[in-house]
Amino acid sequence: MKKAVAILLPCLLAVAAILLFANREDNPSAGAGPGQLEIQNVAPELSAQLSGARAYAHIEEILKFGPRPPASEGLARTIEYLETTLAGYGWKTERQTFKAATPDGPVDFTNLMARHESADPLPASLPWIVGGHIDSKILPEPFVGANDGGSSTGILLDMARVLSTDPKSASKIEIVFFDGEEAFRPGITATDGLYGSKYFAHVMTTKRSSWPGGGIILDIVGDPDHDLLYSPEAPEHFVRTIESCAGRRSFTKPFRMSPFPILDDHVPLQNAGIPCLHVIGEFGRMSYWHTPDDTIDKVDAGMLEKVGRMTLDFLAEVPAPEAP
Ligand SMILES: [Zn+2]
Repeated sequence: MKKAVAILLPCLLAVAAILLFANREDNPSAGAGPGQLEIQNVAPELSAQLSGARAYAHIEEILKFGPRPPASEGLARTIEYLETTLAGYGWKTERQTFKAATPDGPVDFTNLMARHESADPLPASLPWIVGGHIDSKILPEPFVGANDGGSSTGILLDMARVLSTDPKSASKIEIVFFDGEEAFRPGITATDGLYGSKYFAHVMTTKRSSWPGGGIILDIVGDPDHDLLYSPEAPEHFVRTIESCAGRRSFTKPFRMSPFPILDDHVPLQNAGIPCLHVIGEFGRMSYWHTPDDTIDKVDAGMLEKVGRMTLDFLAEVPAPEAP
């Protein structure tokens, strides 16, 4: 735990600086403006169909591919698995490939974007982005990231199945699997990590004619023995809704606002003008976080089910923002 906290603290200081400056420096189009789509809700009866056992089984399959850092064989096989699975549920996928400078030199990255066949084709956006990262961190030892990267991926895959049973709901959501969330060095900084979400946000604001009205990003959400945190910078009506949804899920540990901002894939989206909610397990207290011990036994099917159902409840219940 001490090691995790030691890594976390400098990371958090960097976060504060980035949150202060990112809007002004990187995103002249931040605020999205007239192209921003209104929030629309999914059907409330969907959440009961989300299966923690199915989400867990997807994680087991993905872990068989081994470590999946950017540009690896493991990541390529993971993306193929996602494409095949999503196609089976009627989702069209598109790979978003790009090269970016990292501390290890230029690296090829691949985000995977998915829309249900009932939705309009790219480049028009849909009302919601729901996302998580698929890469695993590069460590000297083999690291599969069952909870860190695996848990959200399993939930998003079963969410795609559930949404496909109601095409009207599915047509409101773009699911994005981000590559390159993890830093190549110990902690995420302004220039290392979040490669996929930064690129996605950049393309969204420069190439698309419209922008999602909101986003929810999940990460490290499969461990029932640690608190679940949500982002303190989320809009107030997102906070009210997720607290209400979480209250019905009887988590064994608290679900609470993070006492500090967390630098993760929601930040580039927020900086591009998309109001976001980020949900993450309290990784700083997980002894196995960013170690080879982040294995499938750290993930619990019941926890995956609670988080997945809470997320669908949130998408069903969050109201449009009140007029200023
Ligand atoms: Zn990580």
